[in-house]
Amino acid sequence: MEKVIIIRYSEIYLKGKNRGFFERAFEDNLRRAVEEIDCVVDKHSGRYFVRKFSEADTETLIGKLKKVFGAHTISIAYETATDMDSVFEAAKLLSKSSGTFKVESHRGDKQYPLTSIEISKELGGRLLAHFKTLKVDVHEPDFTVRVDIRENGVALVFADFIEAAGGMPVGTAGKGLLLLSGGIDSPVAGHMMAKRGMNVDCLHFHSYPYTNLQAKEKVIDLAKILSEYTCGTKLYTVSVTHIQEAIHEKCKPQLMITLLRRFMYRIAERHALKIGAQCIITGESLGQVASQTIEGMTSSNSVVESLPVLRPLVGFDKNEIIERSVKMGAYETSILPFEDCCTVFLPDYPAIRPKLEEILKEENKLDVEGLIEEAFQTIEKIKI
Ligand code: ATP
Ligand code: MG
Repeated sequence: MEKVIIIRYSEIYLKGKNRGFFERAFEDNLRRAVEEIDCVVDKHSGRYFVRKFSEADTETLIGKLKKVFGAHTISIAYETATDMDSVFEAAKLLSKSSGTFKVESHRGDKQYPLTSIEISKELGGRLLAHFKTLKVDVHEPDFTVRVDIRENGVALVFADFIEAAGGMPVGTAGKGLLLLSGGIDSPVAGHMMAKRGMNVDCLHFHSYPYTNLQAKEKVIDLAKILSEYTCGTKLYTVSVTHIQEAIHEKCKPQLMITLLRRFMYRIAERHALKIGAQCIITGESLGQVASQTIEGMTSSNSVVESLPVLRPLVGFDKNEIIERSVKMGAYETSILPFEDCCTVFLPDYPAIRPKLEEILKEENKLDVEGLIEEAFQTIEKIKI
């Protein structure tokens, strides 16, 4: 009898001819997720297994595996021979000594001498005889013992289905460049795109020395949290201090954010093309703040020439975003109080529905190309 972890995948089932491509990416990602722990990953009839791990690593392994997109459910199981004596030995280890239970059986091997109902009856009977205070309750049991008789002559005996991340394996849906601020929204946006199989690299704009090094550390920490789901991510940082100073000096203060965002999007598109990213991802949500009205989005979007800008949070309420942020483990870091570059030179009243004409008029006062070039001279790549 061997203790194993079973990982079942989700939407990959829907894939037809190119299922192999998705399966390979999923397996690679599983291996990468657990590479620092002594164990073996393999695959058998559409399920993935982690084997040969130490008992002490079980929780850590589950924690890591739960974050691999493509995984639907996970179970800690005993793999045994299929005879009832062996299955019973495993079931005893999973069973509590009192309370109510039921047995659920599944028979992948249709040649097996007992039907699934007979397996459940036999095993239930043995457990009742062994643990005298145990009772059967098929409707609301305290715990369930599950038996799966597989085609390859082994039985898997387990208690629970642990819910995993779902989605598609990262690496199967291209690459995006996430505009990662230090806030709540953008890490969630990156998480959502990774869930659909996208590789995500990050770009952060800072206003050093107006923003401090702690703000940078915070963004690195957020990228680290995100990278647990994205199978590794690269973080690029660019300074926009000189751009904010130029806008502050020459343009109407209420357009500071609008103009800065247009610079951010231009820099983002150029950088995305450089690193082979096929889209820009942001954490914008309609109407959340002045720059995220449809007019604000139109103004920033209009400087992007060839790539789509994906805004996975566009229709979400703040509390829905917070819920996801908590669930992905980013919230506590996101709410640390370090300043984002957008808060430097913040006007008292930002323009809520900026007119393109006026924006262009103000922008014409600036050396747009020169400022962008200067920004690229400050680019840093941080390996996460
Ligand atoms: P977040 O919680 O992600 O910071 P927010 O609610 O603060 O978002 P904004 O500041 O208007 O909203 O930013 C909207 C989006 O623009 C962010 O989700 C992010 O994708 C991008 N963005 C804003 N500031 C930065 C920055 N300093 N670096 C990189 N991207 C940024
Ligand atoms: Mg922000």
